[in-house]
Amino acid sequence: MNRIDRSEIEHWLREADGRRLHELWQRADAVRRECVGDEVHLRALVEASNYCGRDCGYCGLRAANTGIERYRMTHDEILECARLAVELGCGTIVLQSGEDLGLGAKWVAELISRIRSEIQLAVTLSLGERSEQELEQWREAGADRYLLRFETSNRTLFGRIHPPRTGRTADRIAILRTLRALGYETGSGVMIGIPGQSWSDLADDVELFRNLDLDMIGVGPFIPHPQTPLGRGRGPKPLPPEEQVPNDELTACKVMALTRLVCPLANIPSTTALETLNPGGGREAGLVRGANIIMPNLTPGPYRQRYEIYPGKACGCLDPVQTVADLRRRITGLGRSVGRGRGDSANYRRRAAGR
Ligand code: SAH
Repeated sequence: MNRIDRSEIEHWLREADGRRLHELWQRADAVRRECVGDEVHLRALVEASNYCGRDCGYCGLRAANTGIERYRMTHDEILECARLAVELGCGTIVLQSGEDLGLGAKWVAELISRIRSEIQLAVTLSLGERSEQELEQWREAGADRYLLRFETSNRTLFGRIHPPRTGRTADRIAILRTLRALGYETGSGVMIGIPGQSWSDLADDVELFRNLDLDMIGVGPFIPHPQTPLGRGRGPKPLPPEEQVPNDELTACKVMALTRLVCPLANIPSTTALETLNPGGGREAGLVRGANIIMPNLTPGPYRQRYEIYPGKACGCLDPVQTVADLRRRITGLGRSVGRGRGDSANYRRRAAGR
């Protein structure tokens, strides 16, 4: 396969002709089949805490949003979700939260050890920007993977939507390098259609996925949340229409397909944000355009409603058994199979083998 270059990436991003895009979808689907196969792995998403010390301009969990009731799950509650995850055939638990320093290093390490020893699931963390010592401690405790989206490769735009903690700079790219050095399967991604994000920025994002040699890449449309600066039009101004990236399903699918072409061995989820834009069809749209992972939400109902990073996220079925049964039907309906085992990233396996 020819290596797709920067100008080709931008060209595809700007492409609006459905017939020509069909070629992109076919290429992405063929690479997906050849490189990671027909299995779709299920990751159980557990939103462990909605406390957050940060004030990201896009996210409903931001500290300044006093309109939400905050919660933090206990070890036992999380372990119960992990047991359910196994019963439902998930090989991985993804623990996500706001940037909650109340989730102490030791507390998280003990939780990881318990999941790994009592339940034997792969553990993915998505807890925000934490210190190198903490990341190291959690890796030693048995964490396998870490997700930290860089959100946009445009540093100026990132600075405007993601204020740093006082006295520090928010350097997510540096943290991604640390994670990789610590031996984590390393995941990142971006939001699509942030006000002020250009086609050229988005092409840079896709290039950066390749340059960082990521093991997992999650992308999804930006969805405005009314309790945030970006949702109230107080963030960066949108660019002129021909330059501004739209936050729609088509654009998200283009990015997903291009991501599969530049990172053929990566695990790529068909994200919740895509399903939120197109309920009942968004997951499939991603799966036939490069994605090979689905993350059913197993957060208990009362908490899930309070983990609203964007509106509509918590909608849909609250019963995990039904949610997973429905996903299985949808996966097999596409002629694909539900993956067994941990579903480690083929890119990580290649790296680990020194190839
Ligand atoms: N605190 C963790 C987890 C955040 S939620 C962290 O910062 O890494 C996970 C992802 O949801 C974020 O990385 C972001 O890409 C996405 N997200 C947040 N707000 C969003 C919004 N309004 N629309 C779409 N995606 C959003």
